[in-house]
Amino acid sequence: MKMRTNLLSALSLGVAASNFLAVAGEKIIIAHRGASGYLPEHTLEAVAMAHAMDADYIEQDIVLTKDGVPVVLHDIHLDTVSDAAKRFPDRKRNDGRFYAIDFTLSEIRQLRVTERFDPKTGQPVYESRFPMWRSSFEIPTFEEELQLIQGLNQSTGKETGIYPEIKAPAWHRQQGQDITRIVLELLARYGYRTKSDKIYLQCFDFEELKRIRNQLGYRGKLVQLIGEKNSAESPTDYNWLRTREGLSAIAKVADGIGPALPQVVTGKVNAEFRFTDLVQHAHKLKLEVHPYTFRADALPEYVLSLEELFHLFFLKAGVDGVFTDQSDQGVAFLRSLGQSD
Ligand code: CA
Repeated sequence: MKMRTNLLSALSLGVAASNFLAVAGEKIIIAHRGASGYLPEHTLEAVAMAHAMDADYIEQDIVLTKDGVPVVLHDIHLDTVSDAAKRFPDRKRNDGRFYAIDFTLSEIRQLRVTERFDPKTGQPVYESRFPMWRSSFEIPTFEEELQLIQGLNQSTGKETGIYPEIKAPAWHRQQGQDITRIVLELLARYGYRTKSDKIYLQCFDFEELKRIRNQLGYRGKLVQLIGEKNSAESPTDYNWLRTREGLSAIAKVADGIGPALPQVVTGKVNAEFRFTDLVQHAHKLKLEVHPYTFRADALPEYVLSLEELFHLFFLKAGVDGVFTDQSDQGVAFLRSLGQSD
């Protein structure tokens, strides 16, 4: 049932051996926001679909409600995937945005969720995906999602893992909430505590990752996300994190990194792909590398298909896992490598 790329099959495919030797573990497919290529992101329907597609891990982005309940939502805002602006027009902040943390769970329950859109224009971000405002979707709590995945694991016999991200912990603290403590308590209650449990806990904020490991005593796997550009939501300097010094600091507390695609492959020059040395440096430090985001309908200009992109990253760059909106295609790709079950 478990997919696995062993070293032998990797070598027989002519893969750069050094990358595999460093971290010769299994290759994984992470369903980015559930099966978000096919259903509105982070809905329970998208989670069930990703589970059925045999993703190894399903990702959750987590923010808090006003009453401190962790919900699965990519942004700290509600107005990119829901009708919050229409249902609660007077609840916007001065910047015109609607923040999950200004709404109680029972208010969030009243919202209708749809495919991600631009709140300024109302137009979908990905045109060919699930049509806007069709059917009926909601924002789930993190606990509901854990129950869904664990329930499906029981009823199908699979061991699908979770890949939760604590969103903007410093910003939550400014709003008077400690999101990390709340999430860790829930994870412990649902049996996610150690490195043998099927979980990677991820965060962009390096200070928070250190706190999780050193102060809060979390013993499960941790992944440091590396942003494409520094942002106000996180105090972390991503340019420094990608240096050898930064990676060494990460390796003291974390088990892996989640870089953006251009931090691994910079492009194609004269028919040759150009790679950074990030994967090599990370593997020397025993850090797994799980880049984001692989999307069939938003490919980098240097490839023609998602399959080609998987080939480039898994077999040439030597990454250990990928975040993808089309986890079915990722699973099919790894299976095509002739892995045993
Ligand atoms: Ca995420």
